[in-house]
Amino acid sequence: MAPLTGILSDLDRVLLSAEEIHARVAEMAAQIESDYAGKVITVVVLMDGALFFVSDLLRQIDLPIRLVTLGASSYQGGTESSGQVKIQWPTGACFADENVLLLDDILDTGLTLSVLRERLLIKKPASLRTAVLLDKKRPRSHDYPLDYCGFEIADEFVVGYGMDYQGRFRNLPCIGILKP
Ligand code: 5GP
Ligand code: MG
Repeated sequence: MAPLTGILSDLDRVLLSAEEIHARVAEMAAQIESDYAGKVITVVVLMDGALFFVSDLLRQIDLPIRLVTLGASSYQGGTESSGQVKIQWPTGACFADENVLLLDDILDTGLTLSVLRERLLIKKPASLRTAVLLDKKRPRSHDYPLDYCGFEIADEFVVGYGMDYQGRFRNLPCIGILKP
């Protein structure tokens, strides 16, 4: 793949290279495949940040998968959480008696996933687990039970591999920290 040197030059440093991400995502896929053997998974993805994570992860899981994409936001384009969560539910999704696997790019304050998890549990899934690529180590306002986590990172704002700053940098193949 071409190195995208144009947008890379806006990074202060690379936190996780594309190779590191792909190796870890492959391990997560293998773990999930073995944990869900014999089952159908309903994967609920928070867009748009988890776009590349879900695409790389699911293509390595050899099981039947139903895919449900949701829009949810607690950030409104800046670098700090606004404290409110908006969820856009798709029409026609059921979740009752399904094995739901919730996927997100990053667990930060835990607000988004906590709200979504509560609302999904009301629909009585057979099981509900959560996988995130990144777990930000910061004092959590919402303690969240994670089942699968790619990497623990420090409390810094990251971009790339699906994650944006004001709509940009999602297409970076690595994950990095922007210049101040
Ligand atoms: P939470 O509700 O856990 O505070 O926020 C979760 C959401 O905020 C993530 O799914 C992600 O979309 C966004 N977010 C949190 N931290 C970062 C970050 O460092 N960079 C980017 N681009 N988004 C983040
Ligand atoms: Mg998100």
